[in-house]
Amino acid sequence: MRRIAILGATGSIGGSTLDVVARHPDRFRVTALTAHRDVERMFELCLKFNPAYAVMADTTAARDLEQRVRGAGLDVVVLGGTDGLVEVAALPEVDIVMAAIVGAAGLLPTLAAARAGKRVLLANKEALVMAGDLFMAEISSHGAELLPIDSEHNAVFQCLPHGDGDLPARGVERILLTASGGPFREYAAGDLHEVTPEAACAHPNWSMGRKISVDSATLMNKGLEVIEACWLFGVDAGRVEVVVHPQSVIHSLVSYSDGSVLAELGNPDMRTPIAHALAWPERMVSGVAPLDLVAVGQLDFQAADTSRFPCLRLAYEAMRAGGAATAILNAANEVAVAAFLDRRLRFTDIPSVIDEALSALAPGKAGDLEQILDWDARARHVAQRSVGAHQTHIQA
Ligand code: NAD
Ligand code: MG
Repeated sequence: MRRIAILGATGSIGGSTLDVVARHPDRFRVTALTAHRDVERMFELCLKFNPAYAVMADTTAARDLEQRVRGAGLDVVVLGGTDGLVEVAALPEVDIVMAAIVGAAGLLPTLAAARAGKRVLLANKEALVMAGDLFMAEISSHGAELLPIDSEHNAVFQCLPHGDGDLPARGVERILLTASGGPFREYAAGDLHEVTPEAACAHPNWSMGRKISVDSATLMNKGLEVIEACWLFGVDAGRVEVVVHPQSVIHSLVSYSDGSVLAELGNPDMRTPIAHALAWPERMVSGVAPLDLVAVGQLDFQAADTSRFPCLRLAYEAMRAGGAATAILNAANEVAVAAFLDRRLRFTDIPSVIDEALSALAPGKAGDLEQILDWDARARHVAQRSVGAHQTHIQA
């Protein structure tokens, strides 16, 4: 029986994880669940999964949950705040931690899981984008196991050669990340100006949280994934390429020096990479329907267009610049996306805000955790100011 903590249990990845886990009551026990402030949903999850711990990052929400749980006579320890998130990520009685908090808020608990030597299932790509060097060092020095949940990286992981060592020396020429192109793939540049948060969140193939949906629409999601791939697989950005593949059936590919290209295919459903990482190196049922290639009919590919979607270019530039640049990119993007969702910033101003933060801060070394958090705070401050300068009101 493997015991699991799910960070971000009320979200899209959290829900898919619980769906997979519930199919295997003989293999997994839900030991801890965390959420931001959705008490109603967390209470339902407590009733259904009876975890030993439930954490609300918001301390007022934690007090509400405590009352609900006591009222129902449940034997669940309720904790609150970042300390509570960090505590359950490192519990001695937990074997597997699903890191599925969105954004920089996931960094500290995900690092705590790495330091406690857990099997870390990483959905929270922002943690790696902020602190890749530090995070990878903590994983290896504490004997933790890191398995990618992002569908592209999980696909790459499945297509890589077995064993350790430098990938190019083992014949890996390139990692090819597929991108759906998002809901605005076919929009003319002039039409991107007026797009709404609702349109950005209506992803053609995947149902996801609002932040990652906007990132998919700007192609920043693919940019964050390029950075994520560099850290996870220890390669330079020059070895990671992006190809637009609107059907999202090929989840990514690895190209070898002999001309072989290996791909992982499947229906676009996050339960596949989640089940893969939970069971690895075994396989288990995920609830995902088998792929029907005849029904898919055709697979298309296009180049990514960084003139309409400059966020992808900004991410490559930040990875090449190194040091704190990717932490600044991530923080400015989080501020810009939140402002867009709030109708305070145009879609086309998202890359401008990020570019301005990168230029204003002339990033140096990333440094230790404290310095990374300081870069993050400074980038947020600069980005807020630049959102103010671009400020607009987007009609519904
Ligand atoms: P979501 O918005 O649906 O869920 C986010 C979860 O994080 C929720 O449980 C929420 O309560 C929690 N959370 C939010 N803010 C928090 C805070 N300040 N403190 C503590 N907890 C907080 O997001 P999602 O789509 O499930 O994505 C989660 C992560 O997984 C993101 O990093 C995303 O990039 C990554 N990811 C998601 C998908 C997908 O299909 N949804 C695919 C690949 C990667
Ligand atoms: Mg992805």
